[in-house]
Amino acid sequence: MSIKIGLAGNPNSGKTTLFNGLTGATQYVGNWPGVTVEKKSGKYRKNKEVEIVDLPGVYSLSPYTLEEVVTRRFILEDRPDAIINIIDATNIERNLYLTTQVLELGVPTVVALNMMDLIRKNGDTLDCKKLSKLLGCPVIEISALKGQGIDEVTQKAIELAKQRKSQEFTLPVMEEIKVSLSEIEKMIESSKVNINTPKRWLAIKLFERDEEVVKSLKLNHSVREKINQCIEQCEKVLDDDSESIITGERYAYIGNVVGQSVHKAKKGSDTTSDKIDKIVTNRILALPIFMVIMWLVYYISVSSLGTIVTDWTNDVLFGEMIQGNIQSFMETANVAPWLTALVVDGLIGGVGAVLGFVPQIMLLFLLLAILEDCGYMARVAFIMDRIFRRFGLSGKSFIPMLISSGCGVPGIMASRTLENDKDRKMTIMLTTFIPCGAKLPIIALFAGALFGGASWVAPTIYFMGIAMVIICGIILKHTSTFAGEVAPFVMELPSYHVPSAKGVLIHMWDRGKAFIIKAGTIIFVACGIIWFLQSFNWSLEMVDADQSILASIGGVIAPIFTPLGFGDWGAAIATVTGLIAKENVVATYGVIYGITDATEESADLLAMIAANFSTVSAYSFMAFNMLCAPCFAAIGAIRREMGSAK
Ligand code: GDP
Ligand code: MG
Repeated sequence: MSIKIGLAGNPNSGKTTLFNGLTGATQYVGNWPGVTVEKKSGKYRKNKEVEIVDLPGVYSLSPYTLEEVVTRRFILEDRPDAIINIIDATNIERNLYLTTQVLELGVPTVVALNMMDLIRKNGDTLDCKKLSKLLGCPVIEISALKGQGIDEVTQKAIELAKQRKSQEFTLPVMEEIKVSLSEIEKMIESSKVNINTPKRWLAIKLFERDEEVVKSLKLNHSVREKINQCIEQCEKVLDDDSESIITGERYAYIGNVVGQSVHKAKKGSDTTSDKIDKIVTNRILALPIFMVIMWLVYYISVSSLGTIVTDWTNDVLFGEMIQGNIQSFMETANVAPWLTALVVDGLIGGVGAVLGFVPQIMLLFLLLAILEDCGYMARVAFIMDRIFRRFGLSGKSFIPMLISSGCGVPGIMASRTLENDKDRKMTIMLTTFIPCGAKLPIIALFAGALFGGASWVAPTIYFMGIAMVIICGIILKHTSTFAGEVAPFVMELPSYHVPSAKGVLIHMWDRGKAFIIKAGTIIFVACGIIWFLQSFNWSLEMVDADQSILASIGGVIAPIFTPLGFGDWGAAIATVTGLIAKENVVATYGVIYGITDATEESADLLAMIAANFSTVSAYSFMAFNMLCAPCFAAIGAIRREMGSAK
């Protein structure tokens, strides 16, 4: 007999840590809401008959976000044999909100009080026996991080699953509500719908006007009408909407439970995290601090340390060692000159120009991963909330945007965590304004060629992206149907901690590897094609670049860009190839300018760019390439997520 156990809990309560501890898997442990949107399952280390399912983190079982829907469907439709409801004991009030809903579903449940190591450190005490008695289910103290108590919890869950006794729990409510609920229960009973969910839960959901439950029950019109009257009656008496009434009752109950079972050692004293937050999220200082930090991130990765590493890879590794040696080898081997040119100038020149920036990109991702893992980025979402709210977005929208600074595609996908459909669509449309990793080489190349690597170039481009988000957000709000009420911002601010080297490196590699793979595939092919088009004319004779097919195509497009100050055919072609992948912008220049002297490839590239642009037209070119349509992969993701090709 196999047993299925679901892990349910709030985001950041430690589900994935517990899951990894129980199954021996290494799922990504993240500090973000939305890190686990899909459920993942694995076998219990100590008993292969037991399947453990890590569910997405949710604060409630309402049907508003994808995570909530996934979790709720799993419990209702897959019917696990038991649930481990994992609770962050340092945030017990908020976590119990979900618990009251899980218990109502009737599936045997164990509550795992996680983070007990922190509770003990703070000197707080929790009365487990009392809590267990009040909730009507076993409560066990654990520390998922230290692996304490995790097997006891699982044993208990297995025991409950074997007993097959359904969980009993009834949320105590005010008399008026109780009357309404039992009336609704009677109506469900009399309409003889076939269900295996506790009637009480259905009644509460109908009372809250939960669309999904209303639809799934297929009640006939007159019954629905009667239920509605019953709800409206209750709303009138209590002068509140039905959903808020139930929320209020849940919190009243939780307040009572916590009051009886939790004893805080020292009330109100600040932790180190609180002290840091006082400065970092301060109304006046928050934004300047954020700007300084981001300036530093770009300064280190683009201007100072990054340039040194990149120069070395470009000049020594690609220029002399790889390109130079292959060229002399192919010449001595009497390979046809056109083939040597294709390999040396086209493929190595173009792909090399992109790969040369890998150290800078990795450095950027490393710094962003550190900021994320130590907990600072969660604060940024909180800080941005104050600004974003003014044009109808919540701070939560900033998280997809942050992810977009790595790559737009996962950024767009991350917008799924936003509850509100309008917020979500607006975020999808705005998120690719944030410069992604693939755009970094463009910035680095032009900053190096024309601005002497000045440290203000990259950060101003980044802040220009944020400014565009805000400006376009305001425009969308006033011209589209997207603007609406902003959902209130509820997000966990995890305590600051020193990030683990392993976590940060995995994170960096996760984002960076796609970049290297792309260089070996799409960019490689694109470079071959670009080289061909810039080496031959329409009658397929080898010619100078400015008489080539590429030049004639570029010449047609170029006039469009003349008003922007970069109307030559090379810039036009680079911009167009950038639609396939943004790295192509640099790769294209690598191919078309890298043709004269292979051994001084990168210095040449910079010199040619410097000769073809002025500082103003270079900034304009960067700005255009940052803000124009993203690459096809991102456009595809936008189409999927918006559900519309338009
Ligand atoms: P999930 O969002 O519920 O999957 O939570 P995670 O497993 O990703 O954990 C969120 C954070 O809490 C991580 O930084 C974990 O290291 C931390 N964490 C998890 N369990 C414990 C615990 O028992 N004690 C402490 N101190 N930290 C924990
Ligand atoms: Mg998780």
